[in-house]
Amino acid sequence: MITEIEDGMAARAFYLRNYRVPFTFEQIDSANQEKRILPGPKPLRCRFCDRGEPAVTFRDVAHAVPESIGNRRLFSAYECDTCNRFFGSGIENHFGNWSKPHRLLGGRIGKKGIPTLKGGGQTGWRIGRKGNRFEMVAGENADDRPFTPSEDHHVLVLTLPRDPYVPINVLKTFVKMALSVMPDDEFAHFGETRDWLMGEATDGEFIRNPSGEWVVATSTLADSFAIHLLTRRPDAPDRVPYSFLLLSYGIQRFQVNIPCPARDEMCEVDVPIELPPFPWPGAAGDLVHAGELDLSGCERMTGDKAQVTYRFETVEITEPVQSRAAGGQAD
Ligand SMILES: [Zn+2]
Repeated sequence: MITEIEDGMAARAFYLRNYRVPFTFEQIDSANQEKRILPGPKPLRCRFCDRGEPAVTFRDVAHAVPESIGNRRLFSAYECDTCNRFFGSGIENHFGNWSKPHRLLGGRIGKKGIPTLKGGGQTGWRIGRKGNRFEMVAGENADDRPFTPSEDHHVLVLTLPRDPYVPINVLKTFVKMALSVMPDDEFAHFGETRDWLMGEATDGEFIRNPSGEWVVATSTLADSFAIHLLTRRPDAPDRVPYSFLLLSYGIQRFQVNIPCPARDEMCEVDVPIELPPFPWPGAAGDLVHAGELDLSGCERMTGDKAQVTYRFETVEITEPVQSRAAGGQAD
C-alpha cells in the first residue's frame, strides 16, 4: 500500500512537471444542467472539414463527447451538421459497440437510457440495469449464457459480447473528443491528426505511443464524467509524448495518447518512452483492471467479449423464468 501511495506521488510529480492542462471539464451530477458550448470563430468555420456557411450548416448541437457516455452538457459550436452526421454514423458507432458492455455495467444513461444486452432469441438471456440494481434473465440455453455464477450466486463472471467494431475507429472517437475540446492555439498543432481523423484510410502506423485503461469497482454517479486534455509544457524536462486525453466515466478511466506528428518529433528517437500511468484520484484501492489500451487494429472485430467479475451484496432469485441480482459492485 505504501508503494502504491509513493508510486502515485511520483506519478503526480511526473505529470505536473511535464504537462499542462489546456482543457478540463467535469459533469458532476444531474443537478447542474447548464450547458457549456465551446464557442467557434465568427463567422463559424467547421474545425473538422474547414468549411463555413453556406457550404455547410451549423443547426444541430454537436456533442463534444458522445451522448452515450452520459454527456448532457458539453457541446461545441464549430462542428458542422455534415461532420456531425459523418461521426455519428461512422466512428461513433464503433465506439458505441466497443463501449456498450462497460456502459451497461457502469450505468451510463445515453439517449435511450442505460443499454441492455441480450442474446439467444425470444427465450434467451438478458442483462439490464436500473440504478444500482441489475436484472439478469438466465434464458433457456445454459450454453450461450454470458455469465457464470458462483454457487451462492454472489459472484458472477460476466463475459459480455460486443457487436462488431474496428479498433482504430474507437481510437478515432477518442481523438475526435480531444480535437473537439482543445483551444485554438493547441489545435493549430494538430492539422495532420485532423486529416488522419477525417481520412478514409485506417492507418495504424499513425499510432506511436501507448494508451492506458483502468476498470474500477465503483461507478461514478449515473450522469457524471470528466475530460481533461494534457499537452507537454514548453519546459518539460522529460522526453514525453505531446498530448494525452484523460477521460473518466462509469467504471472506466482512460489515458489516450493523441498523436501529434508536428510536436511528437522528439519521440522518433529509437528509445522507448517510459511513462508512469496517470494517477487517477481514488482509483488505487478500487482497481479491478489496469493495462495498456491497444486500439491500433484496423480489422473488423467480431465475437469480441468484455470480461468483468462482479460481486453482489444481495441477490434475489426468481425461478424458473428468470433470476435476478441486485446491489452489485465489481470485484
Ligand atoms: Zn464540417
